[in-house]
Amino acid sequence: MKKILITGGAGFIGSHLCERLLNEGNEVICLDNYFTGSKSNIIHLLKNPYFELIRHDITHSFFIEADEIYNLACPASPVHYQYNPIKTIKTSVMGAINMLGLAKRIRAKVLQASTSEVYGDPKEHPQSEAYWGNVNPIGRRSCYDEGKRCAETLFMDYYYQNKVRIKIVRIFNTYGPRMHPNDGRVVSNFVVQALTNQDITIYGDGSQTRSFQYIDDLLEGLIRMMGTGEEVTGPVNIGNPVEFTIRELAEKVLALTGSKSKIIYKPLPADDPVQRKPDTSQANKLLNGWEAKVPLEEGLLKTIEYFKNKIEINRP
Ligand code: NAD
Ligand code: UDP
Repeated sequence: MKKILITGGAGFIGSHLCERLLNEGNEVICLDNYFTGSKSNIIHLLKNPYFELIRHDITHSFFIEADEIYNLACPASPVHYQYNPIKTIKTSVMGAINMLGLAKRIRAKVLQASTSEVYGDPKEHPQSEAYWGNVNPIGRRSCYDEGKRCAETLFMDYYYQNKVRIKIVRIFNTYGPRMHPNDGRVVSNFVVQALTNQDITIYGDGSQTRSFQYIDDLLEGLIRMMGTGEEVTGPVNIGNPVEFTIRELAEKVLALTGSKSKIIYKPLPADDPVQRKPDTSQANKLLNGWEAKVPLEEGLLKTIEYFKNKIEINRP
């Protein structure tokens, strides 16, 4: 039985990871300050004696014994990370320093949840790990993009200087049950809008692309990455390489929900990447043939089911 610390464990990805690692027979410590996560995401795990919940902000130092650390704490949706940009960058940078310092002291493996946003508005397509990116350092997305880039630098430097056993994973757009209904990300927005017969809000003309990965595929990639030997540090892209325009996504959500919502167009936010699609050949090579398996329609149906129940529960 391993003792595993998950920062950001009450969030969308973190709560699924807590559940999966507990089910695999590990002891899990979930650390979260509930900025965007919530107790309701992990409440069903509290009855498990091998699950521990700690309210803590990772910008402050923290000490515990653990074998592995998954560092997921950071708001991930543009609406949330732009709400308090200084706090966002502190969470990425000071959080990384605190978790790396802890990993060094207790000799734990530590995995960083990095992001496809390190590629910014990419000029190379698809994006491979060798691409250095095209990031605006002073824009509205910079607190997130540059914070995550700096965290990657810190992870590599702790590896070179202190031989800390690090893993960096660049996560591409991931969706599924337990996304926050109001976090502004495109999948949750479109599904909630369709289910409540509100207008579907496409930003720009909807020709920008994203590649959507279902949560189960990401979990498998994260766990396989943590299981690699010391020589594998990453960064490794984890994402679904099947690319869709945002307009195609809106049409799929409308078709799958049978909604009567109409599509409306709103201004495109600044620095919104034009295209995004991962080159996943590294993940495939290093992680035992890992590849994303869940097609968009199948993942969307599960996500729609989740939001249907959530909306039902919240109806007065
Ligand atoms: P989320 O907002 O649901 O989860 C983030 C969690 O971190 C929340 O529970 C939040 O309360 C917690 N948190 C935030 N600041 C904290 C702090 N200072 N101290 C302690 N806890 C804090 O987002 P998510 O989608 O689950 O993302 C998890 C991680 O994966 C993030 O690091 C994000 O950058 C990364 N990521 C996610 C995606 C995606 O598509 N979902 C893509 C790329 C990277
Ligand atoms: N988007 C949209 N309507 C929405 C929310 C988002 O058209 O209601 C667009 C957004 O402008 C971007 C894409 O969908 O081009 C993905 O947005 P999201 O915030 O989910 O993720 P990110 O931009 O970080 O990839």
